[in-house]
Amino acid sequence: MKSFLLLLLTAVTLWANAHIFVYHRFGDSRYPTTNTTIEELQKEFEYFKTNGYKVVPLSLLVKTLKEKKDVPDNWIVLTIDDNFKSFYTNALSVFKKYNYPFSLFVYVQATQDKYKDYLTWEQLREIAKYGSLEFHSYGHPHMTYLSDEELKKDFDKGLALFKKELNLVPKVFTYPYGEYNQRVQKVVRSYGFDAIINQNMGAVSKSSDVYDMDRTALVGKVNLKHYLKYKFLDAKWIEPTIFPKNSMLKSLHVKTNEKEKKGNLYITGHGWLQTTLNDGNFNLKLNKKLTNKRSRIMITVGNKISSKLLIKDKYGIK
Ligand SMILES: [Zn+2]
Repeated sequence: MKSFLLLLLTAVTLWANAHIFVYHRFGDSRYPTTNTTIEELQKEFEYFKTNGYKVVPLSLLVKTLKEKKDVPDNWIVLTIDDNFKSFYTNALSVFKKYNYPFSLFVYVQATQDKYKDYLTWEQLREIAKYGSLEFHSYGHPHMTYLSDEELKKDFDKGLALFKKELNLVPKVFTYPYGEYNQRVQKVVRSYGFDAIINQNMGAVSKSSDVYDMDRTALVGKVNLKHYLKYKFLDAKWIEPTIFPKNSMLKSLHVKTNEKEKKGNLYITGHGWLQTTLNDGNFNLKLNKKLTNKRSRIMITVGNKISSKLLIKDKYGIK
């Protein structure tokens, strides 16, 4: 009994909110930065299985959030971005073996124009028997570099082909390259998806925004245990919200309900720095030059994390 209680306690401390993970290529050593070896995949699935995690369909997590119910701490959602052939040839059998549901986000043009390395419509139709197929745009653009009209043109074309070839209306969207801002988000939301997922490392809790769900990439050799410890930090970003003028990040203001006095801040190109919270607020003068047109700001309090992606917008936020 004692050892059972100990086990239970360990399990509770290991679990922290639901996690959405994203894979890209499988067993394809030509692209180490986007690849997951089959050995690594098996290891991760075995870890979920033996440590009490439950891999659930994305639709169940979305439904739970919409109903404002608590999100169980041991839930895992598995997603795959880009319809690479290697999913079908190398990984699908592993998903089947563990009976793990998945959502595959389709880059429509790659299949439509029969790009090498990408799945055919026929293969996608077969995959749809085991998991859900969702939308990842028609042309896989850097979305902040397209106007609203160009974005709509891309979506209309992609969604029409999705319907024609798969007879499906996708329910969820993921941004190509994980790149978005408020303007892009507004266009995507006008399409009425049930949920939108980003690629900002983190976790999902009851307070997560179903139209901006955090998702962690599992590529290369990953520290799965480390990622699983992350919790969702309920944070209101007041500043910055857009890529700053002249690339100068002057200040940061984020409101949280945390009682902690210490937090950490990460800025692309500047690394991590320790900071203090005042009544749950991160309020800092920074004057840091952002050297990357795609910069990430992350804040953590304990193992809770929230992040903001700042990307140059060709058309300006409207
Ligand atoms: Zn992609």
